Amino acid sequence: MSQPGSCTVVVGCQWGDEGKGKIVDVLAENVDIVARYQGGANAGHTVHVGDAEFVLHQIPSGILHEGRRCLLGNGVVLDIHQFFEEYDALVARGIDIDGRVGVSSRAQLLMPYHRFLDKAVENSAEVKIGTTGRGIGPAYEDKAGRRGVRVADLGNTKRLHERIDAAKARVVQRLDELGWGSEDLDRAMDEALALGDRLLALSTEVGPEISASLRAGKSVLLEGAQGTALDLDHGTYPFVTSSNTTAGAAATGTGIGPTQVTDVIGVVKAYTTRVGEGPLPSAFEPEMDDHVRTLGGEFGATTGRPRRCGWFDSVLTRLASQVNGLTGVAVTKLDVLDTLHELQIATAYRLPDGSVTEHFPADTWALGKVEPVYETMPGWQAPTTEVRKLEDLPPRARAYLDRIEELTNASVRWVSVGTKRSQIIPVA
Ligand code: GDP
Repeated sequence: MSQPGSCTVVVGCQWGDEGKGKIVDVLAENVDIVARYQGGANAGHTVHVGDAEFVLHQIPSGILHEGRRCLLGNGVVLDIHQFFEEYDALVARGIDIDGRVGVSSRAQLLMPYHRFLDKAVENSAEVKIGTTGRGIGPAYEDKAGRRGVRVADLGNTKRLHERIDAAKARVVQRLDELGWGSEDLDRAMDEALALGDRLLALSTEVGPEISASLRAGKSVLLEGAQGTALDLDHGTYPFVTSSNTTAGAAATGTGIGPTQVTDVIGVVKAYTTRVGEGPLPSAFEPEMDDHVRTLGGEFGATTGRPRRCGWFDSVLTRLASQVNGLTGVAVTKLDVLDTLHELQIATAYRLPDGSVTEHFPADTWALGKVEPVYETMPGWQAPTTEVRKLEDLPPRARAYLDRIEELTNASVRWVSVGTKRSQIIPVA
């Protein structure tokens, strides 16, 4: 059956923190539904509305637009306690969200024991992944191990407790082995389960709801968390998140078919950042790193950790374009580069054996040893934050965007020049 409505996926093209929250917020103006398709409370989208700042971890940033329906798909791992903290905080700030949030009955529940285990494992690991300690990895492990508990299970108390008790006993044993206490776990479990009925009341069939809306001619936006280089399969494994962040997961993570997606918009920052462990080939020298981190406010929204910063890496964004099948790109934080005298773009990598590749290597340890091949471009050294039309950007800024477009193999459709909703340049 034909589908009159449009379905756009918004996906991060680097290591997350590209400013997806801001782009989703801008695009949400013209959509009816926003749905998250993977991840959990490890994602932190920062959105500025007027003078107010909102940091959203689980509820899609579309919630800040009146009347939009916001869904959490089956692909997410949902931390009940944190979810309602966020929900109640939005209500307390005057956002009318009654009836606007729906949660897939197939979504996995992230239980307090997942958080305990995440911290204990990361703490004792020889090779650290740099997780946020929010329990995401262990929750996805339980999902794949078929030990998980889903929203629908909240409707059957006996079965719920049987499954939770078995999964929890396993975790407690592991915590013991790691010499990690589990004293507060029971209290945290009681707190989480006390919210079960409240969550069950929000449960819905996300796939059918989205499909019906598309048939009715409505517009849907599917929002990814983290970025392509953190994808479980296509990222810098094992320094990745525990889910597929890329556009293909938008269909499986919400319960629609891939043919229902009409557009895939990749969000790329005008430079590169990375939080957590693992290689960052185009990393700045320390002085420049500090400088750009301060200019761009590059500190994690979830953990406050400083992000490592580097030049724009087109080897990575080309991978992102290919894996996600991008139909367009939104470039964010162009304004952060306004004062720089000169810019570099990584166009290829020189491998330790001297050969040059334009492809992102699968061997993450080899990636840690590559030397980027840079192209130098002059900086525009003029403010862009007030610009609202492409033709009003300094010619050197336009040349930089043209080069990003060419090297990434996808057309630039939006340029963001500040944190505010209004600071966006649509590109025809
Ligand atoms: P996300 O997880 O991809 O949504 O990214 P984060 O929210 O972690 O990081 C993006 C940060 O950059 C937020 O604080 C945004 O307000 C900010 N931001 C987004 N777009 C722009 C932009 O164009 N310019 C500037 N200066 N900041 C931006």
